[in-house]
Amino acid sequence: MALPKRQTDIGPPHFNQFLPPVIQKNYGKWKGHDVLTPGLMVHTGESGDKIWTVRVASPRILSTETIYEMCDLADKYCGGYIRFTSRNNVEFLVSEEKNVEPLQKDLKAKKYTIGGIGPRISNVVHTQGWVHCHGAATDASGLTKAMMDEFYDYFTTKELPNKVRLAVACCVNMCGAVHCSDIALVAVHTKVPPVDDERVGKICEIPTVIASCPTSAIRPNPAKKSITINEEKCMYCGNCFTVCPAIDIKNPEGDGVAIVVGGKVGSLRSDPKFSKLAAAFYYNEPPRWPKVVAAVKNILEVYAKDAKKHERVGEWIDRIGWEAFFKKTGMEFTFQHIDDFTFMRDTMRTSAAFKW
Ligand code: SF4
Ligand code: SF4
Repeated sequence: MALPKRQTDIGPPHFNQFLPPVIQKNYGKWKGHDVLTPGLMVHTGESGDKIWTVRVASPRILSTETIYEMCDLADKYCGGYIRFTSRNNVEFLVSEEKNVEPLQKDLKAKKYTIGGIGPRISNVVHTQGWVHCHGAATDASGLTKAMMDEFYDYFTTKELPNKVRLAVACCVNMCGAVHCSDIALVAVHTKVPPVDDERVGKICEIPTVIASCPTSAIRPNPAKKSITINEEKCMYCGNCFTVCPAIDIKNPEGDGVAIVVGGKVGSLRSDPKFSKLAAAFYYNEPPRWPKVVAAVKNILEVYAKDAKKHERVGEWIDRIGWEAFFKKTGMEFTFQHIDDFTFMRDTMRTSAAFKW
């Protein structure tokens, strides 16, 4: 006798069961899609079936009330089908054309911002910030809010040469997709963390702390039952702080934000690219970070003016060259651009085997 199928909490459920029926039916057999407005696109299958996508911005950290409201709208117009993209755009998947207009009307009435599809910016993927993560060097949510207020028109109406993906990460662990975004902010610590010898001995496992350092900068200090940090080798990553809170990496005087540009995930026209350093450091200036926001806006506008149609930021820079990028944007070229070891971990000097 066959046993009834058990529902377990082992592993994620198969995604297929969450797809709208029209997507299940046409899976792998789509002819293409058309962007109808900045917040609406339609996919057409080889069978002639269509599905409309209405995209809205989200502040990413959402209240349960907002999620209930979104789900109610999805129940009313989309058969309950809604998805969150990896950059926290909210997409309503509409199978019946007659529901597209009423949904958009309802969304506008409830003050949702519709947009983010096509050659413009979409929502910013970002990380937790000061309130929610122990190692944050900036407030990702605050920075994102300040940027999106400034770039609102690039989400709703204004066109760019191609899509521009933005990201913010509040430390070099980069829980946000900073390494593969067109323009991104990554927060950096710039000071060697002080060691509280008394607490290290009491609350930290010293072998684990030593093993946590990617550059082998930490060695034991048996006299104090603690550790010492070789300042020459430290790249301020904060890994040791993650396993040992007595080595506190956070420093209001030394923490700030770097700007990186030119990354992308897609392989259309050119290979995927890692982002590279554009500006090494801005001090945190909450609540609106005016200098950082102005610098990002400047890059966005120079790109909008200078790039050819369909060029992503990285492709534009590849074509004009980095020298021209710094000239056209008026950004300063600093020593950190020569070897961005302490800012981004993609050079040879990131290897623990590097000879100092
Ligand atoms: Fe925490 Fe760093 Fe991730 Fe920000 S990027 S949430 S500080 S681990
Ligand atoms: Fe090592 Fe990073 Fe700690 Fe510096 S901050 S000592 S590089 S783990």
